[in-house]
Amino acid sequence: MLNIENLRVDLDTDDAVIRAVDAMWLSIERGETFALVGESGCGKSMTALALMRLLPENGRVTNGRLLVGDEDILDLPETQMRSVRGGRIGMIFQEPSTSLNPVMRVGDQIVEAIEAHTALRGAAARSKAIDWLRRVGIPEPERRIDDYPFRMSGGQKQRVMIAMTLAAEPDYLIADEPTTALDVTIQAQILDLLKDLQREHRMGLLLITHDLAVVSGMAHRVALMYAGQIIEVAPADVFFAPKHPYADALMRALPGAGRRERALEAIAGTVPPLSTRFGGCRFEPRCAKAMAHCASTLPELLNVGAAHEVRCLLYAPGASEIPPLRGETAAPAEPAAAAATATADDGRPLLSVQDLKVGFAIRGGLLQRALGWFEAVRGVSFDVARGETLALVGESGCGKTTTGKAIVQLLRSVARVEGRALLDGQDLFTLQGAELLAARRQVQIIFQDPFASLNPRMRVQDLLEEGLAALQPDVDAGARRQRIEALVDQVGLRRDSLGRFPHEFSGGQRQRIAIARALAVQPRLIVCDEPTSALDVSVQAQILNLLRQLQRELGVSYLFITHNIGVVEYIADRVAVMQAGQIEEQGPSEQVLSRPTSAYTRTLLDAVPRL
Ligand code: SF4
Repeated sequence: MLNIENLRVDLDTDDAVIRAVDAMWLSIERGETFALVGESGCGKSMTALALMRLLPENGRVTNGRLLVGDEDILDLPETQMRSVRGGRIGMIFQEPSTSLNPVMRVGDQIVEAIEAHTALRGAAARSKAIDWLRRVGIPEPERRIDDYPFRMSGGQKQRVMIAMTLAAEPDYLIADEPTTALDVTIQAQILDLLKDLQREHRMGLLLITHDLAVVSGMAHRVALMYAGQIIEVAPADVFFAPKHPYADALMRALPGAGRRERALEAIAGTVPPLSTRFGGCRFEPRCAKAMAHCASTLPELLNVGAAHEVRCLLYAPGASEIPPLRGETAAPAEPAAAAATATADDGRPLLSVQDLKVGFAIRGGLLQRALGWFEAVRGVSFDVARGETLALVGESGCGKTTTGKAIVQLLRSVARVEGRALLDGQDLFTLQGAELLAARRQVQIIFQDPFASLNPRMRVQDLLEEGLAALQPDVDAGARRQRIEALVDQVGLRRDSLGRFPHEFSGGQRQRIAIARALAVQPRLIVCDEPTSALDVSVQAQILNLLRQLQRELGVSYLFITHNIGVVEYIADRVAVMQAGQIEEQGPSEQVLSRPTSAYTRTLLDAVPRL
């Protein structure tokens, strides 16, 4: 057994002590997969790092025991801990590129692990490393063992990382978001591989993820964390009918085909700062079922069924007689789909992309001359109607983002763009000067990462005003100010946000700022490039609701680039599936997603994990 007993982890910062993990109890048996799930910042990864004694410099375990068998690893000297780390508990991280040594051949990295933790040496260790590469599905392992990590794809690097970790034959494996950086088809292969290897070696697997669908196909037991604590733990088969109000709200915030007719039930508010000294339930300010005493009583984990525990006072004796404080959940917003499609078809597409080709120069030599062309997009055609959402889906590198950027005219100076992109009959690719400026106003873009896409040195007011001043110089300062105030109201931000800098906002709020910036110039088409993939499920629900509401109110069209099929099912009227720079299949969402005609679409959809 691997036991975590009453673990508390504190992080010291300049302003306060952050309690990243609190009152954590869990145990994992050999051969069991235990999933730890929750939104970002809830303490999952800190728990894993505490188990490996790899906490950041400002972090410390301030309470509890970490038992591997009978041994508390917190008592071990560092020299002994080195053999536990890797030897008894292995860990694979989210990002294989940063977990492998880039200047060491992959084989040497695996041999190093084998020699450190097993009795094998030299040629025997190398032959074992080849064997491991074969088992994790690396083709031609005898040759690839001498490759450096940069010669491998993301999926192959993650396989090497798994081989390196498992080659040390650990009793327990911690997999921290092992497939988050990978495409769905590679994700499915890696998850199958982990399952097989776990069965073969009877490893205890601690799977850390934010993706509930991944959990449903992998885990025996699941624990959900919120604000540093486990709030519900249950066998996987009952976890998906959760009892804790937060777990229940999280399930209802997930997008999907069955929810198209309504707005998603987003969870109001945000996670409280972990520097707070809590005197009651941490979810109380956001809980629709809160009772008067929830704010002043610390809930313990209560038994609600076989191996099923919930940290909620609703399940304490006598709670059924206490009335809720706020009544039921706020009514979900009005139906969105019907209104969204109401303006969808007046016969003429807003945007018509015809035979789009985008090539990037492959440069080399001393003078960096173009040696050839890499064709990222190879003859793509599609239409987007007014008020319609067309989802462009596909795996990374398929050309979907390049297509979006070409339409927004971001590739003019860096790539060879051919074909036509007709916006209301006017070809965007041939425009120059004032006409180009006017067209830029009509087509805007929202990027994936709200942290990277806003200038950190500009206040929100200036961020919103910048585009407006550049693309609509005729609007005077007073009118601009009024427009900007209306915009922050529209995207659900407070007006005092205008004087603040991006770092003062959460991820979801920053994405709202990015949406407001795109809307500032009253575009008719917005290219949304994975706008929710960096966000947690509860925040994603708020942003998807906002996008649909804006479409309903303003009639704007979206070219929605994403790899998340749940989001596509929820938001898209039509879908185009891309592979290797070409469109494999396109049509109405319901048809493409439930009755795909292309083999590639079928493979893609089959690989998507589902609840
Ligand atoms: Fe809601 Fe009270 Fe349960 Fe907390 S303890 S989740 S506030 S009902």
